[in-house]
Amino acid sequence: MLTTKNYIAKSVESMRPSGIRKFFDLAAGMEGVISLGVGEPDFVTSWSAREAAILSLERGFTSYTANAGLLELREEISKYVSERFCVPYDSKEEIIVTVGASQALDLALRAILDPDDEVIIVEPCFVSYAPLVELTGGKAVTVETTSEQQFKLQAEALERAITPKTKALLLCSPNNPTGAQLDKEDLEAIAGIVKRHDLLVIADEIYAELAYDIQHTSIASLDGMRERTILINGFSKGFAMTGWRLGFICAPYELSAAMLKIHQYAMMCASTPAQYAALEALKTGMNDVEEMKKDYRRRRNYIVQSFNEMGLDCHTPGGAFYVFPSIQSTGLTSEQFAESLLREEKVAVVPGSVFGKSGEGFIRCSYASSMEQLQEAMKRFRRFLGR
Ligand code: PLP
Repeated sequence: MLTTKNYIAKSVESMRPSGIRKFFDLAAGMEGVISLGVGEPDFVTSWSAREAAILSLERGFTSYTANAGLLELREEISKYVSERFCVPYDSKEEIIVTVGASQALDLALRAILDPDDEVIIVEPCFVSYAPLVELTGGKAVTVETTSEQQFKLQAEALERAITPKTKALLLCSPNNPTGAQLDKEDLEAIAGIVKRHDLLVIADEIYAELAYDIQHTSIASLDGMRERTILINGFSKGFAMTGWRLGFICAPYELSAAMLKIHQYAMMCASTPAQYAALEALKTGMNDVEEMKKDYRRRRNYIVQSFNEMGLDCHTPGGAFYVFPSIQSTGLTSEQFAESLLREEKVAVVPGSVFGKSGEGFIRCSYASSMEQLQEAMKRFRRFLGR
């Protein structure tokens, strides 16, 4: 009999399933669960963006676009990135519209890595980084961050991890899962090392619009960094457009051309109606982004204060929509904590350990839920801890 398992590629066979999914699946079978587990906005995409997609369909715009995406959208992205993040990109040759930031990450890694090349990833980090690096045959080298340093990458730790095989640093700010935001000074120190060792940076700035206290700085905007940065962003988080699957990459011509080669064979182009929606979101949706941001900020302040009052140490993250409180005082592992909390109080959170070893002792809670839900979740947390 045919054993189909024997046909699976070794790189896929050794891949572990996402720890986030495991908790989704557990929670999905239960009633009355409040989920602080999901990494997506609770807002619906702005009406003007939805209407633009409907209109594009009514007009019959149902064919492929250019591989790199609608030129009009790339022009608008170029304007947006230049105005908001102070980095100029040529809309014709240096921007690719992708299927979410997820595909952008995959393209960036596949375009630059040869087998055994090393990429430095900064943990705790988004669950896809290491598997995507490993799928290329490259090696993900981990640099850990700590709560004492508000989970910010320290320049010295970065330098210690660099070897002759290091090709790039994959950097995410504001960060998932910790919410840590690197300010200009932090980034200058990192950029200095990147330049000294002649590395590339893959900058995952998908949460750039969700920076609450200080303006987001793109590492690409720093002196000498544009030429060595692959800048990744998208519409999922700031514009509440997760289901549209739309992101983009900005990078100097040669890097963009390399990524476009893969994109044209692997994907052709991103979805056409989604591109029309994103175009409208950039043209008229910034007020909605600001409104959502105000709401997230209010919720962040509430949840950070609640956790600290309960005795779960929680730093105030500068961005994204996650908090990362310590559960070390309970004596449980993060997985035990998350599982017991779900079973006993029906609140879903994600164990910090799924984001890397240094995430152990913490849980990730998303505050992309209504204030009423957050208040109820905090009530259940108190009851759980009281026991
Ligand atoms: N990068 C980070 C840090 C994320 O948290 C996520 C989604 O959770 C992504 C990339 C993927 O985003 P997209 O929905 O644009 O594919």
